[in-house]
Amino acid sequence: PQLINQIAAGEVIERPASIVKELVENSLDAGARQIEVLLERGGAKRILVRDDGCGMSAEELPLAVSRHATSKIASLADLESVATLGFRGEALPSMASVARLRILSRRADADHGFAITADGSDQTPAAEPAAHAPGTSVEVLDLFFNTPARRKFLRTEKTELGHIEQLIRRLALAHARVGFRLEHNGRSVLDLRAPSHGDINDGQASDGQASLRRRLEQTLGGDFLDAALMLEDQAVGLRLFGWVAQPAFSRSQADRQFFFVNGRMVRDKLVAHAVRQAYQDVLHHSRHPAYVLFLELDPRQVDVNVHPAKQEVRFREGRQVHDFIFRALHRRLAGGAMAAGAL
Ligand code: ADP
Ligand code: MG
Repeated sequence: PQLINQIAAGEVIERPASIVKELVENSLDAGARQIEVLLERGGAKRILVRDDGCGMSAEELPLAVSRHATSKIASLADLESVATLGFRGEALPSMASVARLRILSRRADADHGFAITADGSDQTPAAEPAAHAPGTSVEVLDLFFNTPARRKFLRTEKTELGHIEQLIRRLALAHARVGFRLEHNGRSVLDLRAPSHGDINDGQASDGQASLRRRLEQTLGGDFLDAALMLEDQAVGLRLFGWVAQPAFSRSQADRQFFFVNGRMVRDKLVAHAVRQAYQDVLHHSRHPAYVLFLELDPRQVDVNVHPAKQEVRFREGRQVHDFIFRALHRRLAGGAMAAGAL
C-alpha cells in the first residue's frame, strides 16, 4: 500500500504538454530511436505519439491502461533510484479518464500489431489485431471532452504548441541520439534528426559528445555553440559538463536555459541560484544567461519524485551541490571572460 500511495502521489494532466511529456518519456523508456509527435489544434483535438520502441503484446496492452500497472518498478527500493524516466503506472489510465485514448502497438517479434481503445470506464478493454509497424502509437483525442471546466483553461493553440515545442527541445537535448519530429496541423515544426552512423564516427572526441554538439546546433543554433564556453568539472561524486554563454548571446527571447540532473530537465531554485550567483559574481549582472548544463551524481543523492508535474528536485547534500555548481561556473566564466578580454 505504501508503494501504491507513493505512486498515487499524483499524475497531473494540466495541458496538452503534460500528455506529450508522459507519452514521449514512455517512448524513450521503450528504447525508441525515432519519435514523432503529431498535433492538431495545439494538442486539444489530437495528440499522436509514434515510436519505434519495443512495443507491447496483446496481453500487455490492457495492462498498460489499467491503474498502477507499470512494468517499471519492482519494489519501493527501486522507486528511490528510479533509473527509467517513467514511474508510477498512472499516466495512461489518467489520460483515459480525461480524453479518448487509442493505442496501437507491435512487438518486433510479432507478425502484426494490436489495438486497444480505452474509454475511461472500469472495464478493461480487449486488444484487437491491427496493422502497425514494430513500435507503438498512442493517440489522445478531444482532451477534456468530459471535463468542460478544465477545457476552459486551455490556452490558444499557439501557446499550447509553444509549451510542447519547448518540451521537445528539452527532451531532445537530454537524448541527443534519438530523432524527434514535431508536426502541428499537418505542418512540420521541428525535425531533429538523429545522427547517422557516419556522423558519429567522424573522428570527434566521442560519439556522445558529437551527437550532443549536433543536437545543440539543432535546438539552440550554431551561434550558441560559437558564443558558448565548454565546461567540464568534477568533485567527489559530482560531475558537471555542458556549455555556458555570456549574456551577450541573446539571439531571441526564447528560453535558453537548460539544466539537467541525471538526464532529467529541472527547474530548481537551488540550481538557479547557484547559476545566477556565478554569472553575477563574474559579469556583475545575470540577465538572460544562456546555458545547457548536465549534472551527474549518484541517483541516491537526489530525489526526482518531489512532484511529478513540477521540475524540482531535492538534493541530499544541497549545500554541497550548490557550491559545486557555483564554483564550476565561476571558474569557467572568469577564465573565459579573461581570455576573450570581455571583462
Ligand atoms: P509508467 O510509464 O509509469 O510505467 P504509464 O501509464 O506511462 O506508466 O505506462 C504504463 C505501461 O505501459 C508502461 O509501464 C509500459 O509497460 C507500457 N507502455 C506505455 N507506453 C509504451 C510505449 N510507447 N512502448 C512500450 N510500452 C509502453
Ligand atoms: Mg510513463
